[in-house]
Amino acid sequence: VIELGQPEHSVVTTCAYCGVGCGFKAEMKGTTVVRMTPWKDGKANEGHSCVKGRFAWGYATHKDRITKPMIRAKITDPWREVSWDEAIGHAAAEFKRIQAKHGKDSVGGITSSRCTNEEVYLVQKLIRAAFGTNNVDTCARVCHSPTGYGMGQTFGTSAGTQTFKSVAQADVIVVIGANPSDAHPVFASRMKRRLRGSAEHPGARLVVIDPRRIDLVDAPHVRADHHLALKPGTNVAVITAMAHVVVTEGLVNEAYVAERCDSKSFNDWRAFVARPENSPEAFEATTGVPAAEIRAAARLYAQGPNSAIYYGLGVTEHAQGSTMVIGIANLAMACGMVGRDGVGVNPLRGQNNVQGSCDMGSFPHELPGYRHISDTTVRSQFEAAWGVTLDPEPGLRIPNMFDAALSGSFKGLYCQGEDIAQSDPNTQHVQAALEAMECIVVQDIFLNETAKYAHVLLPGSSFLEKDGTFTNAERRISRVRQVMPPLAGLADWQVTQKLSTALGYPMHYEHPEQIMAEIAALTPSFAGVSYAKIERLGSVQWPCNESTDEAGTAIMHRERFVRGKGRFFNTQYVPSDEKVTQRYPLLLTTGRCLSQYNVGAQTRRTPNNQWHDEDRLDIHPHDAEARGIADGDWVGISSRAGQTVQRARVTERMQPGVVWTTFHFPESGANVITTDSSDWATNCPEYKVTAVQVSKVMQP
Ligand code: SF4
Repeated sequence: VIELGQPEHSVVTTCAYCGVGCGFKAEMKGTTVVRMTPWKDGKANEGHSCVKGRFAWGYATHKDRITKPMIRAKITDPWREVSWDEAIGHAAAEFKRIQAKHGKDSVGGITSSRCTNEEVYLVQKLIRAAFGTNNVDTCARVCHSPTGYGMGQTFGTSAGTQTFKSVAQADVIVVIGANPSDAHPVFASRMKRRLRGSAEHPGARLVVIDPRRIDLVDAPHVRADHHLALKPGTNVAVITAMAHVVVTEGLVNEAYVAERCDSKSFNDWRAFVARPENSPEAFEATTGVPAAEIRAAARLYAQGPNSAIYYGLGVTEHAQGSTMVIGIANLAMACGMVGRDGVGVNPLRGQNNVQGSCDMGSFPHELPGYRHISDTTVRSQFEAAWGVTLDPEPGLRIPNMFDAALSGSFKGLYCQGEDIAQSDPNTQHVQAALEAMECIVVQDIFLNETAKYAHVLLPGSSFLEKDGTFTNAERRISRVRQVMPPLAGLADWQVTQKLSTALGYPMHYEHPEQIMAEIAALTPSFAGVSYAKIERLGSVQWPCNESTDEAGTAIMHRERFVRGKGRFFNTQYVPSDEKVTQRYPLLLTTGRCLSQYNVGAQTRRTPNNQWHDEDRLDIHPHDAEARGIADGDWVGISSRAGQTVQRARVTERMQPGVVWTTFHFPESGANVITTDSSDWATNCPEYKVTAVQVSKVMQP
């Protein structure tokens, strides 16, 4: 613990880690943060916090921070510190040179879910208006893009249907492919309070669908009624089998479906899931889950009376990620579990502003507010406001950018606050693509793995250095407030603005509040959002244009779905391409731990490192014994994509045949092993299913 003295004043802001979006008071002495104290009036956390938000903020002033812009001609050259004007001028000249030679679509950009809504909006505006291309994507591509697709198709918009506090009204809680205790700790505590219950209000029942025996399965005073420990890659079989039970056992909420859902798609779906090949018994060998368990879980969910589903990346990061999101939505609609307190479908967003980065038009096919770029009416609104002509064709997704780089048609990338060289799957493929580009501009607070391939490094600013807003997993828009000046002199939105101006498309914002005013004017779901309103109310939940409540919409789809009638889709189970073989007999799945965060760039530079200072491979005792592996031994992990070395943790939290690890440390490179297999609809990588071999090795 570093003693920094007594605070003199405080600034209320929002945590920059997970999608819970906890409010904090940054307690200050001058311009130095003394401590971060959870804000008792924060609606997402009500005074609670976890080890990340509470203790892992020191990275903001870590000695590794990049504070000077840098350029170099080749990635083998040393970096040369230059002025902001020279760095931005150089980047703009390079992008112009590339576009003049290879066409406007030879460049693109990646927005950051770590940055504010205003900054994300500006980056996608820069790509579309200044570059003149729709080659813009976001790191949500590799996490919740299937949520965007699946919820968009079924409900009409991509967002959690509930507010966090609504879990207190749930009678049955279903957690699928998520480990809230580690990844969303403050919401997990709220969920556990409901599961424990009280004398007056008995605890909710719990179903966990996850290959691992996660903390919630048997946390203190919490016990899952059913843990469906499925084999990785069989989510769709499980959700379809649950639907089979609902349909064949007369558990459909017929009145709800008749009033709220599209009848033709429902009837098609009902006939599909009722087929014998979709029964729990038929899927038993595939999923590894006893049919009786699936039947019991389905009955529990359907009979509620109030059942809520919370899911994470264990749903989306699959070749059938979008199908699974649709399967969850189908089940919820069939049982009438959307549109009131205590029910709903809720994606637990990993990053602080991944909801916002999606809302702000970061996808190559969508303008802010999830409106398709081919929609002439919508496009013309933006064209009028921005004074440009927009391309009606969707641009490249991140994996397409990599492929195009390797085939020679994609040459320049602006990457803000995203370490694609560490976080994206099949590292070797990503590295080869980055090496093939002529100009990579990285804007980040650290010299990250992607910066090794960059030609221009623009210093980024941490959440403590800028004003703006984040949107959490319950669509809550909260203020981020500057508590100290940007270490490099400019906040991220100012850098983007300068780059746009240098490219010949001037931007003249003086404060992020003006950017939010533009967002609100052009995005119906953000209509009515303003800094003044957030100041007054603490936070607001979008959509703000459909509610009589000034603070926005806590529960979505109350009377009708955003798309009108909820639409069903058949969810045909397709086995993953990743299959165990004699050579690769185990299935690897990946995730996160409590004290570290994603690629670890921030948390590794804080005291949180003491609790988890390496990536470890979790392996079941049977698999360990068969390989002569003891707890703490070094093991080699190899897949069809690559290999790495970690220490083993022997634990019965794993099921035999399945191993698990994190990707917080670049040196153990878990994504060297993962393949580039991806979701059929969105290209979200299949991080959760990789066939591997594990063997004991000498300490490297
Ligand atoms: Fe930050 Fe999430 Fe922890 Fe809250 S739960 S303090 S938002 S990391």
